[in-house]
Amino acid sequence: MPIATINPATGETLQTFEALTAGEVDAKLQRAADAFERHRRTSLDERAGKMRRAGEILDADKDRLARLMTTEMGKTLAAARAEAEKCAWVCRHYAEHAAGMLAPQAVDVGGTARAEVHFLPLGAVLAVMPWNFPFWQVFRFVAPGLMAGNVGLLKHASNVPQCALAIEDVLRRAGFEEGVFQTLLVGSDAVAGMLDDERVAAATLTGSTPAGQSVAERAGRNLKKTVLELGGSDPFIVMPSADLHAAATTAAKARCINNGQSCIAAKRFIVHQDAADEFEQLFVAAMEALRVGDPMADGTDVGPLATAAIRDEVDEQVRTSVAAGARLLTGGQKIEGPGFFYPPTILTDIPEDAPAYREEVFGPVASLFRVAGIDEAIALANDSQFGLGSSVWTRDEAERRRFVAEIEAGMTYVNAMVASDPRLPFGGVKQSGYGRELGTFGIHEFVNIKSVWIEEHAPTDLPDAE
Ligand code: NAP
Repeated sequence: MPIATINPATGETLQTFEALTAGEVDAKLQRAADAFERHRRTSLDERAGKMRRAGEILDADKDRLARLMTTEMGKTLAAARAEAEKCAWVCRHYAEHAAGMLAPQAVDVGGTARAEVHFLPLGAVLAVMPWNFPFWQVFRFVAPGLMAGNVGLLKHASNVPQCALAIEDVLRRAGFEEGVFQTLLVGSDAVAGMLDDERVAAATLTGSTPAGQSVAERAGRNLKKTVLELGGSDPFIVMPSADLHAAATTAAKARCINNGQSCIAAKRFIVHQDAADEFEQLFVAAMEALRVGDPMADGTDVGPLATAAIRDEVDEQVRTSVAAGARLLTGGQKIEGPGFFYPPTILTDIPEDAPAYREEVFGPVASLFRVAGIDEAIALANDSQFGLGSSVWTRDEAERRRFVAEIEAGMTYVNAMVASDPRLPFGGVKQSGYGRELGTFGIHEFVNIKSVWIEEHAPTDLPDAE
């Protein structure tokens, strides 16, 4: 993929970038290794001050940064501003709470000894990131990672190079020393070599399942820790006791958020047959009410897809599904003209072998299913290679308990759409990846969890060895 800014609203190539040479990559890895030796010795107070400052810069600069995001990947300007604000939030959150999360934990071992668990940094963590939330995906790794004393190396998606450089600039202006966070403008072919390099301690990847498999395989060969946040085909289950108006309005939002390109967007809508007719009518109306258009304009709900290839793949998945017997309730035709626009679309009566039944459709396309009861709803929700988020709509306590216990996903939201939150662990199971970001679990992914045993008095007899 060329490293370039191509405006998805117009298809125009605005700027192209040369990939770093092998020598330039080597120099950056060395800078990271050198910076780590100093950064790991800084106090949590000092790191927190810089992280707070990064949050202030994100807030103050949010209009400029938002325009950059919209220009490079097409999300609406309002969504891009909200993304910058959320990045500021995650910086503040870890600035405030990292010290508590990383504080040594005492363990009562009796006798005269003291035992503690310490959380120590690992080194340089390579982050391979996607374009869909070009700031948020990076900051949710950066804030806990740098607070833990690690240093960051970013290989961002090739279509958001200016966002990648802007993030490096924010962190430099916040006071983090040269090398603590570096953007590397490289293609995905450079990742394997970096994973082989001993100056890279671990890696985190957010992106597609094939990219995750490739990084996990290479990192595994080098015995390096990885966290993988991969694709999803989240179920959105509606039971008869739900508030159907709220469910349908949220369904349209949950499917079309970020122009339909979110890993945790609701993708498979599984509706109890007793609520299905009414929900279908409300859902179609809510999808048709969304305004598709210029992402820079006020009032636009759905901008273009990020690249021509993504738009064409979505179009292909819909056309193949229809050819297999699925029925369109709305949308389904790509919008001609400049830019990579696709309308909010709903498919129903989807046969099992159609792409829209199980595949992740990364655009504003909903798959609508009717089920006879909760057993069928749970079985269909779990009939997926993915297990990222899930949203269930019911007022029935017994149903809630079953959904929470039985849906195979990293997150279940009841009467709400799935959303990431700095306070809560985020991640999936099955082909959606492993490990967690955010919350306390997120900061503990890339640390050396060290057991410390301190004898206050010299031992008189030796313990059994393990
Ligand atoms: P992608 O093609 O997998 O790209 C993601 C990143 O991985 C990019 O930086 C890409 O670089 C790099 N990459 C691709 N193939 C690679 C390989 N073989 N080795 C090393 N690096 C590789 O994914 P995308 O199209 O940008 O993003 C969409 C996918 O991400 C969807 O499946 C979505 O669900 C998932 N996603 C998941 C989460 C989550 O938290 N679970 C969040 C957001 C998105 P290039 O750009 O240079 O190819």
